[in-house]
Formats: sequence, structure tokens, C-alpha cells
Amino acid sequence: MKPSIKLKKLQETVIQCRKCPRLVAYLQEVSQRKPRRYQDWDYWSNPLPSFGDPNARVLIIGLAPAANGGNRTGRMFTGDRSGEWLFNALYQFGFANQPNSLRRDDDFKLDNCYITATIRCAPPKNKPLPKEIENCRPYFLEELDLLKKVEVIVLLGQIAFTQTLKSLRLKGYDVPPLSFGHGKSYLLSRKLPTPVWNGLKPFHTELQTISLITTYHPSQQNTQTGKLTRPMFHRVFKMIKKKLEVES
Ligand code: SF4
Repeated sequence: MKPSIKLKKLQETVIQCRKCPRLVAYLQEVSQRKPRRYQDWDYWSNPLPSFGDPNARVLIIGLAPAANGGNRTGRMFTGDRSGEWLFNALYQFGFANQPNSLRRDDDFKLDNCYITATIRCAPPKNKPLPKEIENCRPYFLEELDLLKKVEVIVLLGQIAFTQTLKSLRLKGYDVPPLSFGHGKSYLLSRKLPTPVWNGLKPFHTELQTISLITTYHPSQQNTQTGKLTRPMFHRVFKMIKKKLEVES
């Protein structure tokens, strides 16, 4: 089966997932007490599938869906304030066909970019429990296997950073202690399993490398306080473009 079809099937599994009872209950609660401005919305209130270009060279990893954003619209970052920043930057740097996305059916498309999250259900107060992160990790590990062309991973915020490092270690990457901050760049590598041909192993072991680029999360908390400004955020996208140019 082609990786893009496996990816689609994985997302269908994710939508049906009910591994975290606290989050399942919270999603129902959110849809029953909608803010007045969203009274007419039929909330998605299920786990959110990741989305984007299955041949992407850039993978963006967030924390979790927003209760009245992605959890309402059914697509990660669609219809929330963080999404306004993220989609605008993706459009300006040629990774998206529109500068914003407010609804799932608005034909918004990503090019050479794929978006996923540390957990796929909106958690109360944006704070997932460690157990919930672990419950969701297998989906991310499978995505890492299926997104075969990814060369640059962009980490939105400290939790995505810490949890992605843990996942990359599980995938065999050599990950030394690294610190989080805005606009940092790291190169990680792993030895690929050595193929055996006719009982013979090759002389050289192949290395696979991946670049990590970090940014403060474009949450309202960061963008409204000036902790993250547009020029700072766009600088990260310039770093991504540069990495892609060097690698091609
Ligand atoms: S957070 Fe992940 S593991 Fe937990 S219920 Fe949602 S999709 Fe399933």
C-alpha cells in the first residue's frame, strides 16, 4: 500500500480514537457550552487528523487543537488565532495556497508541508497529561515512518520540542541534550538499518539526517504580549527555506 494511502487510513483511525477518557469527555463538554459567536457551529469535537502534502519536505508540529478553533472546525489550526499567524506565514513563504483558513471546506491546501500535533484532542487549559501524550505518540511515530521525504521539522513551542525529541530517540536518532529557544536549529542523524543482500552487508552504513528548527508557539499568549513578533516568526520561515535550498 502506498504511504499516502496508509497516511489517510491512519487519520481515519485517529478520528475514531477514544484512548483518553478525560479528553473525550472534555470535547463533548466544549461542544455543549459554545461561546455565543460560535452558536451556529456544529463542533467537530473528535480527535483531529493531521493534514497536508504527503510528499512534504517540511513537517510542522504543534501542541494540541484549540477547543474553539481546530476542535470546532475539524482541521488543525483552522479558525483559530494561532492558525492566522501560521497560515499567513506559510502562504507568504510559498507553502500554502491561501493566507488563512477559517473552515474545513475552504479549499485551503498545503504544498511541500505537513502539519501534525503532539496530541490530537483539545485538552482542558491547553495542558495535556503525560499519559495522554503517551497515548497519542504511536500516531506520530507512524506519521514519521510514512512521511518519507521530510527533511526539516519545525517545532512550535517547548512541549512539541520535548516530545518530538523523545519520539525521534525512539526512532533511533542520536539526540544529545538540546535546549529550546526561538529560532534554534539542530541537525540529528540516525543509522539506517543495514540492508542485507545475498547474505552480504555493505561496507558503509547509511546515515539519515533531519533538521530541527524551533519557534515560540504562535499562541495569542505569545503574539499579544510581543514575545513572538511577525519578523521573529518570519525569520524562522527564512531558515526553513534556506535549509531546503541547501538540501536540494
Ligand atoms: S489525544 Fe490522541 S490518543 Fe488521546 S483520545 Fe485523542 S487521538 Fe486518541
